[in-house]
Amino acid sequence: MFDKIVIANRGEIALRILRACHELGIKTVAVHSTVDRDLKHVLLADESVCIGPAPSTESYLNVPALISAAEVTDSVAIHPGYGFLSENADFAERVEQSGFVFIGPKPETIRLMGDKVSAIKAMKNTGVPCVPGSDGPLTDDTHANLALGKRIGYPVIIKAAGGGGGRGMRVVHGESNLLNAISLTKSEAGAAFGNDIVYMEKYLETPRHVEFQVLADKHGNAIHLGERDCSMQRRHQKVIEEAPAPGITEEVRARIGEICAKACRDIGYVGAGTFEFLYENGEFYFIEMNTRVQVEHPVTEMITGVDIIKEQIRIAAGEPLSYKQSDIVLRGHAVECRINAEDPETFLPCPGTITQFHAPGGPGIRMDTHIYDNYRVPPNYDSMIGKLIAYGETRSSALARMRLALAEMVIEGIKTNIALHQKLVDDSAFIAGGTNIHYLENKLGL
Ligand code: ADP
Repeated sequence: MFDKIVIANRGEIALRILRACHELGIKTVAVHSTVDRDLKHVLLADESVCIGPAPSTESYLNVPALISAAEVTDSVAIHPGYGFLSENADFAERVEQSGFVFIGPKPETIRLMGDKVSAIKAMKNTGVPCVPGSDGPLTDDTHANLALGKRIGYPVIIKAAGGGGGRGMRVVHGESNLLNAISLTKSEAGAAFGNDIVYMEKYLETPRHVEFQVLADKHGNAIHLGERDCSMQRRHQKVIEEAPAPGITEEVRARIGEICAKACRDIGYVGAGTFEFLYENGEFYFIEMNTRVQVEHPVTEMITGVDIIKEQIRIAAGEPLSYKQSDIVLRGHAVECRINAEDPETFLPCPGTITQFHAPGGPGIRMDTHIYDNYRVPPNYDSMIGKLIAYGETRSSALARMRLALAEMVIEGIKTNIALHQKLVDDSAFIAGGTNIHYLENKLGL
């Protein structure tokens, strides 16, 4: 097992990784920007290194600073968390070339999955169901593009191969807008992602977002940990997640989960990963794979009992998976609310000093957060300040516990979206389960 790990991230996920390391007896190095000296995990880490000023381009995205932090502390491996450099193949490569272990898939796998056109092609080849589409980049042939639009059937969506974070896509409702939409998306993608390759897909109008968690080791073993429903979204940002997804039967879970696990074996995937699908009328359509741990991993941990971060570390150290597929038994239901420092009306980030924090508790409640009394939320990073997770034997008991926990939690000094979550967990359609990805924006009148 590794002796010492650099945690190349901040906030709640850095603390989550630190806890997993310490549980495994691994020493930790926290790296932080100048405004993040007082982060909880920095205070708890065995060592800490300041890697630059507040802007993330000069600190958390500063590859040479991260590598030298690993060098000066004699660390063995680097855990990238989520966001920042976690899906950057060049970073993973630099880490390995510098003699450290990158806790994640191989650089070539990250590269394959980071390009949506190559990812879809690879997934289709291994039998993962995909959205009907162009099966490759669009060319400049206007006749061919019009014919393709007709064959797929409107509405269609034009997406950038290098897109991410919900950017670089455009919905087209009819033939008259198609060519214009292609050229606009192409030029925007070129400017935003340095890659102007675009492709076409059928636009699904009322899908749910259902994703499968996988784990794969370096010995060719791969398993799935069931699915999560992350349909409650605003601007393609997940707000509430849950596991299992309402209405997915054990048979469907086993079938789609095995397709994902087989895809991992086929492409030589290593580590934790997520297959994201749109789910409509009982069918799954692959949209992308995330080659890292996700924000919403705790809901899966709660219903499977698997510690996904510890598994990531064990896998990177070359150990075989601790579980066989038959060991994975789902029990109960878990819901996660992302707690953001933001104005509940305008959704604008609301940084500042937390004057008082009372954490919720009780049976089935887990709060993954780095905040504490007098902690100052800096304005430079993502506004998520924690995740409240509620577990119950049934979905309704998980929701009942979530209601209590939201009511118990006190965060003063800054604005948060707690009130929005209180509204959502009392919403009759959400309580019924199975709302689609547009539900929240429609409810908010957006
Ligand atoms: P990103 O990497 O930017 O997150 P995704 O491919 O995961 O891009 O798509 C983000 C979101 O865009 C999806 O969760 C869904 O809401 C919407 N979307 C993407 N492709 C389609 C599609 N074919 N039909 C309907 N909605 C889509």
